[in-house]
Amino acid sequence: MLEPYNDEYFMRKALEEAEKAFERGEIPVGVVVVINNQIIARGHNLTETLNDVTAHAEMQAITAAASFLGGKYLKGCSMYVSLEPCQMCAGALYWSQISKLIFAAEDQQRGYRKNGVKLHPKTEVKSGILAQEASNLLKRFFIQKRNLN
Ligand SMILES: [Zn+2]
Repeated sequence: MLEPYNDEYFMRKALEEAEKAFERGEIPVGVVVVINNQIIARGHNLTETLNDVTAHAEMQAITAAASFLGGKYLKGCSMYVSLEPCQMCAGALYWSQISKLIFAAEDQQRGYRKNGVKLHPKTEVKSGILAQEASNLLKRFFIQKRNLN
């Protein structure tokens, strides 16, 4: 059966990326970048693995998508990310001029909105798609981490 290409479909792909981060012991955040219903970049948080505070899922996916397109701007692209981006990633998204940002769970503490960061005026934002699943995954991660320490 063909699956419909909709926000939920692509957010599920982002959650699959988040699961990969979880399995590596990374805070589970995952991303896909889509253009014309085609996934052109995927990413998951790798800050521990790479010892790099900039290795957020979004940063990697922005670089990968630009490289795929052969241009620095992500016009016509939609980013699906399982957690609201932080100010660093929102800043990078601003420069990319991405057309659409769709995130699942809100980040009350480190989210870009709380920190007063603005996206590009051309970027359309949607939130709450599969938010419960995304935040359950994060909760599961932090509970497991607490029990290991
Ligand atoms: Zn970030």
